[in-house]
Amino acid sequence: MKLDFSRDRVLAVVAHPDDAELLCAGTLARARQDGAAIGICVLCQGDKGQPNKPIRNLAAVRRKEMKAATAILGAELFLGEFADATLADGIPHRLKLVEILRQFRPTLVLAHAPEDYHADHQAASKLAEAASWSCASRGQKTKTAPQDAPPAVWFMDTINMSGFVPGFYIDISRYADVKERMLNCHKSQLARGTDGDFSPLNELMQLQFKARGMQSNVSAAEAFRQHHAFKRTQAW
Ligand SMILES: [Zn+2]
Repeated sequence: MKLDFSRDRVLAVVAHPDDAELLCAGTLARARQDGAAIGICVLCQGDKGQPNKPIRNLAAVRRKEMKAATAILGAELFLGEFADATLADGIPHRLKLVEILRQFRPTLVLAHAPEDYHADHQAASKLAEAASWSCASRGQKTKTAPQDAPPAVWFMDTINMSGFVPGFYIDISRYADVKERMLNCHKSQLARGTDGDFSPLNELMQLQFKARGMQSNVSAAEAFRQHHAFKRTQAW
């Protein structure tokens, strides 16, 4: 089976500034290589992930890090600008994401799995699911015109693979270095590697893409499952 993204517009909708690197940047890089348009929408500012030695203006620092990382990927960056640990599936959040979706006009949305660990990830999953349906509703008004059809939705692997049963794997053997270069832009997060409430991110990411690679007979992979719902499932 040959998966081809060349006709796609792929948007990752993630909770925090480094989530796309950990869970789907290899797939985005591969989609871009196929000729797809790619984007990352980061809903939260990353303003509360402080290392032991606090950083002033953390949200601004993390915005800069995100811009550097998405420039490596060649992706368009969209920001929800919500505060960390406040994300919820509410009307203002939905409308903001509907407008972002209409601006980018994805054919495929990569969303957090509903069972992922962090409350912001769980809320981001709900929001992505709801907004990626409403973005094609003519009755739902925002500044930009509705899309013709709702995009397909793939749920991404969870952080450290906990509780996630993959539906399929994307071979990212040729793009693992892109993930690593992107993650290295997130210096404020990497600085938390030895903090008691955190895990070294490089190691976590490498272990995950190698384990998913081992499960699918390649050197590196990212895992997903399709959202099996009316008008959301695609055939190859
Ligand atoms: Zn996160």
